[in-house]
Amino acid sequence: MSTIIDETVFDVDKINADFQRRDPAAQIQWAAETFGSRLIMTSSFGAESMCLIHLAVSVRPEIPIVLVNTGYLFPQTLAFMEAMRQRFALNVREYHSRHDPVVWLTVNGESDPRVRQNVEACCAANKNEVFDRAMRELAPAAWLRGVRAHQSDHRAAMLPVQWNKRVNCWAISPLLAWTHRDVHQYMKKHELPYNPLWEQGYNSIGCNPETCTRPVGSPDDQRSGRWAGMDKKECGIHLDQGAGI
Ligand code: SF4
Repeated sequence: MSTIIDETVFDVDKINADFQRRDPAAQIQWAAETFGSRLIMTSSFGAESMCLIHLAVSVRPEIPIVLVNTGYLFPQTLAFMEAMRQRFALNVREYHSRHDPVVWLTVNGESDPRVRQNVEACCAANKNEVFDRAMRELAPAAWLRGVRAHQSDHRAAMLPVQWNKRVNCWAISPLLAWTHRDVHQYMKKHELPYNPLWEQGYNSIGCNPETCTRPVGSPDDQRSGRWAGMDKKECGIHLDQGAGI
């Protein structure tokens, strides 16, 4: 069983206060020095994912990058991931749903693959179980994630460094204070590519059913295209509850 690096190693309140003055690169540097090879990151290879990936691999080129493949990702996202993996020599760890995508829909009464009637059941089986399994297998001490405070009320309540009981490790959010403009400027400066769907108005990119990801009108509108018209705002990876599967 892997050792937990707990608050006897660092003062989390002090670190979170310090992080107000440190840019994302310095935050990641601290994480790399503190957690070493037990630091991983997650990425959906969505619209602006190359921002955090570039920051992370600039500090730790071999950092494992977990991609949760639900079986319903856009083909453009998978092609983008593969292109980025080759171009930047990324250490991508792709974890798949245990289910065949077509069979899962049939067995669960989802007659039209373009929409999802029961998003909670689908996310639990095909996304959260996969994420929980990846985290169990890799047993990281800390995990970098790309959430930003302005994306939702839930994310606005997050801290840059916080303990995640669900996966038993520290969750670190170096981009929490960054705006869409900050990310754009970083990507422009480093000539980083966006997921090609971004040019079609997909500002936040998850799975391909139109109930799960839609293009939106404004570049400042980050999340309204996800589960549009539903109360659901998060796939669950950033929630405290696991899939329970
Ligand atoms: S985002 Fe949609 S397709 Fe993807 S796992 Fe959740 S419900 Fe299923």
